[in-house]
Amino acid sequence: GNSAINLEDIEKYSKQSFPLCMRQLHMSLKEHHHLRHGGRMQYGLFLKGIGMTLEQAMTFWRSEFTRIMDMDKFDKQYSYNIRHNYGKEGKRANYTPYSCMKVIMSNAPGQGDYHGCPFRHTDGALLKQRLSTFGLTQQGVDQVMELVKGHHYQLACTRYFELSHNVPETEFLLNHPNQYFEESLRVRG
Ligand code: SF4
Repeated sequence: GNSAINLEDIEKYSKQSFPLCMRQLHMSLKEHHHLRHGGRMQYGLFLKGIGMTLEQAMTFWRSEFTRIMDMDKFDKQYSYNIRHNYGKEGKRANYTPYSCMKVIMSNAPGQGDYHGCPFRHTDGALLKQRLSTFGLTQQGVDQVMELVKGHHYQLACTRYFELSHNVPETEFLLNHPNQYFEESLRVRG
């Protein structure tokens, strides 16, 4: 089981401890007050994985979406999907957060989508710019981009983790966004 999280911490976590894929989804949600289906699935299940309860998820998504739509539309069109992710609707399956492999290999984002893996799916120039905005030195950006060019997306993410957490070398290869988050909390103490 996961320990509880506070909704007020999400913003801080998104900057300090979310992997790039989830930070991108969080930023897009904040900017557009909406995410399309692929983004809601990828981000929603990740949040569930870090300990967000169904009740918190409802509050979290509703507070953003109702800035551009009324409560009634949100309840009709989106609340089912959130409950579904928590196994409260449909097959009542226990949906688990997506692994890196799944994010990288399936359901590539299209126009207007913000899901996916930035190391795999984001245009190189934009990715470079973002890495430097997020605090990497030019040398760090080059190291990450070298791995991206070699199609080593998870290694690029691992390198990004090391650089942004100031650890020389991690003893793991990142293979899950939730693992990234947990390692980050561990390293940041
Ligand atoms: Fe997210 Fe995994 Fe891509 Fe890192 S490698 S950005 S954790 S999907």
